[in-house]
Amino acid sequence: MNYIVFDLEFNMFFKFKEGSFANSNLKNEIIQIGAVKLNEKLETIGEFDLLIKPVIYKRMNPYVKKKTNINTSRVVKGTPFHEAIESFKLWLGNEYILCAWGHDDILGLRQNCLFFGFDLLCFDKFINIQQIYMNLRSLTNQPSLESVVEELEIEISSPFHDALNDAAYTSDIFRKVYDFSENPIINWEKEQMENELIIEELTTQIDKAEIGCPGCGEFVPKSREVTKKKRYFAFGYCVQCNIQVRHISRITHKNGVYSIVSNNTIYNTDQVSD
Ligand SMILES: [Zn+2]
Repeated sequence: MNYIVFDLEFNMFFKFKEGSFANSNLKNEIIQIGAVKLNEKLETIGEFDLLIKPVIYKRMNPYVKKKTNINTSRVVKGTPFHEAIESFKLWLGNEYILCAWGHDDILGLRQNCLFFGFDLLCFDKFINIQQIYMNLRSLTNQPSLESVVEELEIEISSPFHDALNDAAYTSDIFRKVYDFSENPIINWEKEQMENELIIEELTTQIDKAEIGCPGCGEFVPKSREVTKKKRYFAFGYCVQCNIQVRHISRITHKNGVYSIVSNNTIYNTDQVSD
């Protein structure tokens, strides 16, 4: 079975004109797929590189343009997403293990496939190379690809933030850190679906949180509340302490566990915020 080390570049919303909004069903649109195919000995046996023509965010976000060096006139000539995914699928073959630096690219790939209605790819075998590196070095924060390339003294021969170059750097790291005696393959699709159920469940509970006064610890009745997807805000007044209390609950993700984290702070409406 081959390892497919892939990397994506995305374009996203930018407010070029008033009254325009991001598409809430697709925050990040794929504009480049880069991948390196490795055999069981981790030797490179193929490369894949395609620019994709965006249809949701057609004009390049200036920050993305600066980072990736991809401008609007280049992506306009890109391959339509459905053709790109079909040729990617063909190139992948029947049996493959997807590998990437971190969790974001596989998430983005699946989201784009779902958004555009494609069910061609299989996400049930995945290796997070960043996670392997983090385990090896006992890191709790996610290191950038650049920093690890430097750390491992991998030769920097081409610019970062190009999907194929980043995939090649990620596979260089993979070769240096992969321990064949361990099994880092996870069923990503299954984990992701379980996580989505957990998030859905937590979302229904988020507005049930109580406001506790940070002064005396007593419960404070809610005078106002707002729910914004994964965040919940509530306000109250503690008569005992004579203070306004602001409550925030959010769904967080830490060490693979989703939970609601709440905090209550003293909130002074007279305060001039800066
Ligand atoms: Zn109080």
